[in-house]
Amino acid sequence: MKILVLNCGSSSLKYQLINMENEGVMAKGIVERIGIEGSFLKHESESNGKVKIEEAMKDHKDAIRHVLEALVHKDHGAIASMEEISAVGHRVVHGGEKFSGSVMINQDVIDALEECSELAPLHNPPNLMGIYACQEILPGIPMVGVFDTAFHQTMPEDSYIYALPYEYYESHKIRRYGFHGTSHKYVAMKAAALMGKPIEELKIVTCHLGNGASIAAVDGGKSVDTSMGFTPLEGLAMGTRCGDMDPAITTFLMEKEDMDYKELNNMMNKKSGVLGISGVSSDFRDIEEAAEKGNKRAQLALDVYHKRVKKYIGAYAAEMGGLDAVVFTAGLGENSPESRATICKGLGFLGINIDPDKNNVRGKETVVTSDDSTTKVILVPTNEELAIARETLSLV
Ligand code: AMP
Repeated sequence: MKILVLNCGSSSLKYQLINMENEGVMAKGIVERIGIEGSFLKHESESNGKVKIEEAMKDHKDAIRHVLEALVHKDHGAIASMEEISAVGHRVVHGGEKFSGSVMINQDVIDALEECSELAPLHNPPNLMGIYACQEILPGIPMVGVFDTAFHQTMPEDSYIYALPYEYYESHKIRRYGFHGTSHKYVAMKAAALMGKPIEELKIVTCHLGNGASIAAVDGGKSVDTSMGFTPLEGLAMGTRCGDMDPAITTFLMEKEDMDYKELNNMMNKKSGVLGISGVSSDFRDIEEAAEKGNKRAQLALDVYHKRVKKYIGAYAAEMGGLDAVVFTAGLGENSPESRATICKGLGFLGINIDPDKNNVRGKETVVTSDDSTTKVILVPTNEELAIARETLSLV
């Protein structure tokens, strides 16, 4: 069975065609600048190499049509006809409280997703556009929605309720939802398999450290707490997002800098995080390089970032009453031995002792703590597309 995985953003669309017989990626690519001048499709087929197609794509339907054409193209395609695609798995960012697992997409689900759009105005509408486009271009094909929030729906009330008047939860559904759930679940399960233990017996902290970053406490295979909240702004410092801060800073800045809510939102989401502190870049490679050359603010950005990750690891170990493993994943987590070592420094009291030789590794599933560490630190490359394809397969 071949499954097409779609991840639709506001002006981009990422896709993978996965052969579920061997879980191999037959083709993958990205469409960028949808609806903007200069749109293009970068497509790579396992058997027929790479191609860049520069054509106007006015909306997601147009983009998906080009993706399908590329997939069946005689020169750079991966399959002979569209009939070979058995199902489509859609990444959906926000499932609200309605979805605690993946679902087959039908009209009721679409209606519920439209309702959730209010909670994720930047993310859910493009996800829905992808669903509507597939309904038109691939009529009748089974589609599955896999939610970023679903894994965290097991959080207990005392993890997800904010200390705000309770009626805001009742009237506006203001609560912690958490994101990156597909990744947290995938890497926690991989780590348990690597440790050779049933996940039900393990207390794991998963650190998804990419451009967006979040941490989850996974107790017995269930998410019991996570750092992102009502939106993906809360928690860790990120590439450009501020994460946790005193909420009173917003009203203070509104007054002092005469900022309106849109400017504030933009500042907290796009101009903060390690970019805001360093003034150098949102990319950790640039910041690490600048810090090495003696740039003090770049070093400060790294220090702030690392300390906050460490704080959450400690908090979640306390919350779960123990810790068997810490898992690092995503861009920085997979590729920066220095960050892993700095975050874990001084965590010997939690049974964590990084082995510098084992930790000198990138993008490979492996344990990076010494053999006598009672708590393992494990590097697991995330694979959200494969996780979505597996969920899709299990439902269709
Ligand atoms: P992701 O969102 O998972 O694709 O992660 C992207 C981020 O990972 C980039 O912005 C970089 O900051 C970081 N990253 C990727 N490769 C490296 C590396 N070799 N060293 C340090 N950071 C990296």
